[in-house]
Amino acid sequence: MEHFDVIVIGAGFSGAVMAERFASQMNKTVLVLEQRPHIAGNCYDYRNEAGILVHHYGPHLFHTSKQQVWDYLSQFTQWTPYEHKVLGSVDGKLIPIPFNLNSLAVLYAKEQAEKIEALLISTYGFDTKVPILELRKSAEPLLQELAEFVYQKVFVNYTAKQWGCSPEDISPTVTARVPVVISRDDRYFHDTYQAIPSAGYTSLITKMLSHKNITVKTSVEAKSFIRLEPQSKSVLFAGEVFKGQVVFTGMLDQLFDYVDGELPYRSLQFDFQTLEQSQFQPATTVNYPNEHAFTRITEFKHILQDKSASTTIVKEYPQDYDRHDPSKNVPYYPVFTEINQQKFAAYKSLVATFPQIIPAGRLADYQYYNMDDAVANALTQFLSIEQRVND
Ligand code: UDP
Repeated sequence: MEHFDVIVIGAGFSGAVMAERFASQMNKTVLVLEQRPHIAGNCYDYRNEAGILVHHYGPHLFHTSKQQVWDYLSQFTQWTPYEHKVLGSVDGKLIPIPFNLNSLAVLYAKEQAEKIEALLISTYGFDTKVPILELRKSAEPLLQELAEFVYQKVFVNYTAKQWGCSPEDISPTVTARVPVVISRDDRYFHDTYQAIPSAGYTSLITKMLSHKNITVKTSVEAKSFIRLEPQSKSVLFAGEVFKGQVVFTGMLDQLFDYVDGELPYRSLQFDFQTLEQSQFQPATTVNYPNEHAFTRITEFKHILQDKSASTTIVKEYPQDYDRHDPSKNVPYYPVFTEINQQKFAAYKSLVATFPQIIPAGRLADYQYYNMDDAVANALTQFLSIEQRVND
């Protein structure tokens, strides 16, 4: 087996950043092991038979206010500006999501909408965001009524489908991702930079991994190359003690053979359909909080304005992750509850006893990262490693 300085397990954003940094900034040789037949993790996209760039693991819309992330990624891609808009099907109408003053105007009679709007602005200020669980604490009866309405019509059933529980039973940071917005800004995100890699995420990550020091192997189970030695706390690579760093972006419970039990994840089933019509819906994504077993439908051609006589949509059906069931064994979301964080802490302590293993990313950190968070954390982790080496 060829010699490598660093091994990276997983070729999603986190793994790609770490591999690229080790290769380009420290001149390390890097082996990237990816279990899927393709790179780019859950951002994997490709142009389908209808000529539409589709996101194989559900919609990924890049947005960031982190200058260093934007500058870093811009080395590897051109961008196509794109501001994500989502509509929600509520009471037979399509309203802007996050719920905002425009949504209020669609669903309430004019006079009542104006009254509530004035109250929202005087209470929270114009152009502010209030998480639904905060709004529900309002002592003002009219705001309480609004909060109850939005909670019931937008959050309760969607969250039940997505997480299998009520909004109170999951970390408040989850529903706070989609706050009530006290403005007429219909955009889903409010970050400084909102754009899609012009040739797609797979192309972007291919570019990141194209450094001469990086070797990528796909369709490879990391465990067929790597073994952990619990006694000596060392890592064996192809049967020999490996001295270099090992970046691990998978699930820690799996890495440690579930010694401290299984961590819960939510999975998804995707139903892709290509339809012989030029457009299916008026926005990229329409959420269905209260109807259907799926949470949302995304129509991909809106994202890059792909020209095609047909259109491709995907419906998302959330489900529990089950590692034994091939239709449920892709972990998409860590289930963000206090009890699960405690379970995760045991694995975090365990991995810390292997000093050369660097956990990184949504799965290994058991965090609900957006793409830019994953990139930012990998960049920060790399910087601290580089600093330690230089000291
Ligand atoms: N959410 C909801 N109704 C919506 C949109 C979001 O209840 O119409 C809640 C739900 O709990 C969801 C969370 O807000 O899981 C975060 O939504 P986001 O769109 O950020 O989820 P993602 O795109 O990451 O799946």
